[in-house]
Amino acid sequence: MRAEIQLKQPASDPVSPVEADARQDEVMIAYLPIVRGAAIAVLGYYLFDLATRFFFPGDAYPAVMMTAVAMGSLWSIGILYLLRNPRKVWHLEVYAAMVCMALFINSNLQQSLYFEVENVTYAILMIPIFAAILPTRRMIVAGIVLCFVSLIWQVHTYLPDQVFDYFWVGVSGIAAGIAISEIIRTAVLNSVKARLAAVRDREKAEALARETRHLAECDALTGLPNRRSFFLALNTHVEHLKQTGDAFFLGLVDLDGFKPVNDTYGHAAGDEMLRIVARRLEEAGGSSAFPARLGGDEFAILAPANPKTAQAILSLGHKIEARLSEPYDLGDYTCKGSGSVGLLICDDPELAAHDLMERADHALYFAKRALQGRAVLFNAALEREMTTSSQVDKALRKADYDREFSVVFQPQYDLLKSRITGFEALARWDSPELGRVTPDVFIPAAERAGLIRPLTRTLLSKALDSMLDWPDDTSLSFNLSTHDLMSPNAIEAILTTVRDSGIPAKRIEFEITETAMMSDFNQARRAIDQINRAGHSVALDDFGIGYSSLQYLQQLPVSKLKIDHSFVSSILEDTSSYKIVRTLLSLSRTLDLGCVIEGVETEAQLHILRTMGARHIQGYLIGQPMPADQVGSALIQKFDFSPRPMPQPRKAAQS
Ligand code: C2E
Ligand code: CA
Ligand code: CA
Repeated sequence: MRAEIQLKQPASDPVSPVEADARQDEVMIAYLPIVRGAAIAVLGYYLFDLATRFFFPGDAYPAVMMTAVAMGSLWSIGILYLLRNPRKVWHLEVYAAMVCMALFINSNLQQSLYFEVENVTYAILMIPIFAAILPTRRMIVAGIVLCFVSLIWQVHTYLPDQVFDYFWVGVSGIAAGIAISEIIRTAVLNSVKARLAAVRDREKAEALARETRHLAECDALTGLPNRRSFFLALNTHVEHLKQTGDAFFLGLVDLDGFKPVNDTYGHAAGDEMLRIVARRLEEAGGSSAFPARLGGDEFAILAPANPKTAQAILSLGHKIEARLSEPYDLGDYTCKGSGSVGLLICDDPELAAHDLMERADHALYFAKRALQGRAVLFNAALEREMTTSSQVDKALRKADYDREFSVVFQPQYDLLKSRITGFEALARWDSPELGRVTPDVFIPAAERAGLIRPLTRTLLSKALDSMLDWPDDTSLSFNLSTHDLMSPNAIEAILTTVRDSGIPAKRIEFEITETAMMSDFNQARRAIDQINRAGHSVALDDFGIGYSSLQYLQQLPVSKLKIDHSFVSSILEDTSSYKIVRTLLSLSRTLDLGCVIEGVETEAQLHILRTMGARHIQGYLIGQPMPADQVGSALIQKFDFSPRPMPQPRKAAQS
């Protein structure tokens, strides 16, 4: 049963549960003291009546009246007891009705036992008293009717000739009662209104605060916690680990090839992909995990380390890995995708949040570099590598490029012309602190540190200087970093450096890798156009190991493929390597592209390649990367690679 007192609300402004509760509370607050006051007054009256009757027992039915008054007193005490803590408005209605009944029964009992004219006044007085005490309109109406009927009944029974007079007295009583009750109700309603306004204001303020908090903590696109709340949560976990020793798992996730999806299918599709990734991370992590979006296509996840084993965290990693490689339904398109995951068991209370992030990031970096689309757990080997890489970073920042860096040249051989036709320039760093550092280490470090562009220019100038001594028909292949390609200004500076050297553009080829297409396909294509326009050719390096090579190949104005040496190294033993090289060679012929096979180390490899129709090769068989001053003697060196029958690879022949 709901309280009768209700404020009218516009239909469009529904009453919130908080507001409905506030109304109930307000009615209670307003009426409780009235009902309680009435109960106390009634109790006082009965106790006084009881004492009076005790000392001055009347003539009529003293025992009955004493009992009735005593019961009235107990009744009133009972009501006061119940009134300690009424929880609903209808409780209050019942208790108020009980107070009224105490008066009503007493007065009517006395009149019916022993009628006295002056006691008719009680029947009249009860009308406004009921109207004042009862909290709801329906109760007031019922109470007034009851009193009026009892008044008319008494008068009709004992003073029949005065019914008309008392009728009008009763009506006046009703009018007074209604007036009193309306005054009280208006006061109550006003108080309810004021309180409801306060409740609404508070609700609005709370909703605003909630929204602000949500905006500050959530990523608007995916609904996941954002970078800020992720770091708050990470810090909380770190503190908890310090205090309780409770370990946890940290995972960093980076989508592979998200940029091409964004570029090819548009931002709406990209956004949808990120939303799907968010849902999949939530599902893979389960209810106890805390996935977050750090920005772009980077996500993170915190999970309780339960149990704290490499097995457990790797199985979380594999779950994420598997979910992220499911097809993505992007509305009009369905596309493939995958994510690299760097994992860390956080159980060392000595490590701060940024140390943990650095480690997980390193595992992610390793996953990206070596095992795209896979989960990698940070381990001792990665820890050593990380330490080295931070030393490399430091040394790189203060390196003297001109003095410390040099270029070596590795010959490229044309099987048809039976001679070396060009050299690939490969960078070398002799750091005074670290000794010789391989390009696999310092090129990514220079990219991370944002130092690759000046380094590229230094290396290119050195390579061009060396070329001045070379015969005119000898070309140079020069490796560009993805970071170079991503900036039109950097490309322009590179082209200007070549132009200033006076060496014809057609003698210089630039090698680029697929990573460039993955980070920004359109910019990569513009950069290649820019290079081609200057008269250079472009070769796609490490071909075959990327995950969507063919898709890009058709859309890119490159003129050569370099087949990665990983295939050649196993070409004699591994059927699939054999098939891949054969397919890539025929692909390059179909697309009318040049093709260089890298990493040829043995004559056996060379001959099997020759049977497949390979023409350009590079590898230790022809020559190791050499300093500039050895290029001259390499060029006059004689090779005897005359064709001779070679057995097919054993496994390959069976297939
Ligand atoms: P890459 O462009 O694929 O270069 C070929 C790498 O394979 C070179 O390693 C080379 O020494 C090695 N190699 C050549 N023939 C053989 C062989 O027969 N067997 C084996 N096992 N390896 C062979 P390097 O010089 O250590 O360079 C590694 C990578 O570093 C290069 O791979 C290239 O991606 C990068 N790099 C080197 N120099 C530069 C540079 O000047 N700029 C940029 N951006 N990257 C460079
Ligand atoms: Ca290369
Ligand atoms: Ca290569």
